[in-house]
Amino acid sequence: MSQQTLRQKLEILADAAKYDASCASSGTSKKNSLGGKGIGSTEGMGICHAYAPDGRCISLLKVLLTNHCIFDCHYCINRKSSNVRRARFTPQEVADLTINFYKRNYIEGLFLSSGIIKSSNHTMELLVEAARILREEYDFRGYIHLKTIPEADPGLIHQAGLYADRVSINVELPTTSGLSRLAPDKDAVQIEGALAKTKSRIIEAKDERKRFKHAPRFAPAGQSTQMIVGADDASDADIVGKASNLYGNFGLRRVYYSAFSPIPDASAVLPLKRPPLMREHRLYQSDWLMRFYGYAPGEVAQATDTHGNLPLDIDPKLAWALKFRGQFPVDVNRAAKEQLLRVPGLGTTAVGRILAARRHRTLRLDDVAKLTQSIAKVRPFLVALDWRPSTLTDRADLRALLAPKQEQLELF
Ligand code: SF4
Repeated sequence: MSQQTLRQKLEILADAAKYDASCASSGTSKKNSLGGKGIGSTEGMGICHAYAPDGRCISLLKVLLTNHCIFDCHYCINRKSSNVRRARFTPQEVADLTINFYKRNYIEGLFLSSGIIKSSNHTMELLVEAARILREEYDFRGYIHLKTIPEADPGLIHQAGLYADRVSINVELPTTSGLSRLAPDKDAVQIEGALAKTKSRIIEAKDERKRFKHAPRFAPAGQSTQMIVGADDASDADIVGKASNLYGNFGLRRVYYSAFSPIPDASAVLPLKRPPLMREHRLYQSDWLMRFYGYAPGEVAQATDTHGNLPLDIDPKLAWALKFRGQFPVDVNRAAKEQLLRVPGLGTTAVGRILAARRHRTLRLDDVAKLTQSIAKVRPFLVALDWRPSTLTDRADLRALLAPKQEQLELF
């Protein structure tokens, strides 16, 4: 086989990395400008965006070190039995690409993951080496997100955290049974053990920095993980429960959800169709409810249907409010912050503004309307100086009134 050029390797390994959602936002519809129609694409690969600890949005070169892999996870395009073009960078090549793109102002950092070659330790050594060259030889101060391999020696994961801003370990599937069926080489206990160790190191490093100014940083942007949605039969309630445990037990900054997408030459144990992208979006919304709106995981699960899945046509907050109408309407001028945060259509910013504004005057419905995109969604759940929903809150057709209108299917 002829030697691959750096460009060919980049093409293969940036494309192979696009399935990892750990640093990306997704849930958008597929669009591209192939054929000269329009500009831009939502299917691109190579550069993704992430948020730095200080809230800045930064662009990252997103690549795999290699898409060779000795594991055979059924859902993965890079698995051992997959018939894809393979490529492999050296750590030096990754470091050089990062620096060159950085100097041209294309990127501000690196997201580096990898298939597993030879052994978990060997692969982890290569990932660490790429980060070491960047930090120690090029004095690179930009953002580095390293994917770590749970089976690797803890000492190597420790080194990864010393070079990287963020580390991540994918739990991959929400249930242990799903993991053993679809990723037979992976071990849920080992994955959670690695997450626990990383959490302890992050805490220890923070403590040491408080005592010794020059103590080394360890993954200052924390750790994250990814769960694949729709490759097994786990319900949304299972996924939400798992995410809540992960946040609680391992102090994760983020749990990312990635809707399973069918891959070429897929294994027969996988579903033929991808789940609706809206499912991924609803899971992100439920994640938000737990992290910023004070909902317990059990309450998010209350918003699911009899199969444990979140509705696709309305958001989980509205679904919960419709099920628990007895808790509404709440008085915008008197209700506690926690109650206002449960009103469909009111986000955290709107609630903050309401709390600030009502110190100076009694609010009318129009005042609230200026703070929200859809006052129609808010009205059934809120009392204001000049507004009381009376029977609207209890109307049997309220869900139909508030659900976004479906687009008419084209018949011809
Ligand atoms: S370990 Fe599994 S998920 Fe990761 S690259 Fe290999 S086959 Fe894919």
